[in-house]
Amino acid sequence: MSTPHIVVVGSYATGLTMKAARIPTAGETLLGTGYREDFGGKGSNQAIGCARLGAHVDFVGSIGNDSFGDMAVGLYRDEGIGARFVKRSAEAPTGVGFIVVEASSGQNCIVLDPGANELLRTADVSDALATLDSPSVVLTQLEIPVDAADAALSHGRSAGAITILNPAPVRHLPASVFGSADILTPNQTEAKVLAGCAPDESVAAEKVAQDLLRRGVKHVVMTLGEKGALLVNGTSQRLIPAVQVRAVDTTGAGDSFNAGLAVALAYGDSIEAAVEFAIITGAMAVTKEGVVPSLPRRDEVSDFCRSHGISAPGWLGAALSQ
Ligand code: ADP
Repeated sequence: MSTPHIVVVGSYATGLTMKAARIPTAGETLLGTGYREDFGGKGSNQAIGCARLGAHVDFVGSIGNDSFGDMAVGLYRDEGIGARFVKRSAEAPTGVGFIVVEASSGQNCIVLDPGANELLRTADVSDALATLDSPSVVLTQLEIPVDAADAALSHGRSAGAITILNPAPVRHLPASVFGSADILTPNQTEAKVLAGCAPDESVAAEKVAQDLLRRGVKHVVMTLGEKGALLVNGTSQRLIPAVQVRAVDTTGAGDSFNAGLAVALAYGDSIEAAVEFAIITGAMAVTKEGVVPSLPRRDEVSDFCRSHGISAPGWLGAALSQ
């Protein structure tokens, strides 16, 4: 079985985290502990997830001409991800997030500078998709300019790829974006906001999904955290329950879910089978701390399926034996 090709168009950011006794107030300096630098950005995370699950991945993004940018390039080399179309810019720094965690409660506050992510242009995306081998799947998110995500979906569709939009963080989208996305993968809050509801409004997930379907996407896959995911399309509506696991850290569940979905579709699974696979990779991500460290590799998925009595898709075994 040949290795399918996925193009991920999205963001990279470095997370700088420190713990403190409490969140500082204006003008205050506190001593912190446990300083950490983490790889992040939804696009980058999802690209790593896809590569670890056995796809050939090209990442299209924009980073700065600085040391955090160099670290990102090293990460793509280590993970076997194509980075020819990761643009280096001298005009803005690599995206960075400052995260202060209150040690006693785990509550945090975050300031994020998207930096070079904002410099990803539609021309960067169209050049990449015109030059790279035709992908089976194009996957994008919204931590880059909406125009760039829109270009990923429309050029991906013209190239014959299945197009997936993970609308995170949620923002206003022009109608064209819905029209070129085959699959929309919001979490419950993102889905409500996209459908014009308040994030805390009490409205049935099925009703929200039907509303989003009317905007022109072919399938809505709404992730529901520990409840699993709701798949809604023109012919069916199905709740696929989550795999029961002991959750340690739920950050990155959505990234791991989207990677699993993209890889299963790239290997030729139906949308139903792909969501069932994504449910497994989403659950695995919550069993470990961190985002990148919790994105599973294909042999780990095989072991997880065996130990949880789940039948793994046929292509996973074939990918393993390559
Ligand atoms: P996001 O991280 O984008 O907010 P969700 O929290 O909905 O997304 O999680 C994405 C997917 O990860 C879910 O659809 C589910 O399959 C899986 N998942 C998340 N939390 C858990 C959990 N506690 N137990 C099992 N699976 C989970």
